[in-house]
Amino acid sequence: MRPDTTLAPVGEPEAEIYVRRLPGCCLRSFKAAVVAKLGEDRRLLELRCSCGRAWHVTSSLDERVLERFVTHGGPRVGGSYPAA
Ligand SMILES: [Zn+2]
Repeated sequence: MRPDTTLAPVGEPEAEIYVRRLPGCCLRSFKAAVVAKLGEDRRLLELRCSCGRAWHVTSSLDERVLERFVTHGGPRVGGSYPAA
């Protein structure tokens, strides 16, 4: 798992964090989703954890992550996101 993957809570793109900062349960859910072999081509729009949190992957350089998740460009990527 590369450490440069970033995620943000759904609806809170400004709260982007690195994958290692995820709560432990969400990190486990994320890793499980990345390694899961579901036998389908569709990528996941978001990570949903059993704790109730949902995360968007905002950026990643990890091919396994990119293959599993749709990435949602965060404020650093788009450049047009209004400053808080
Ligand atoms: Zn969780």
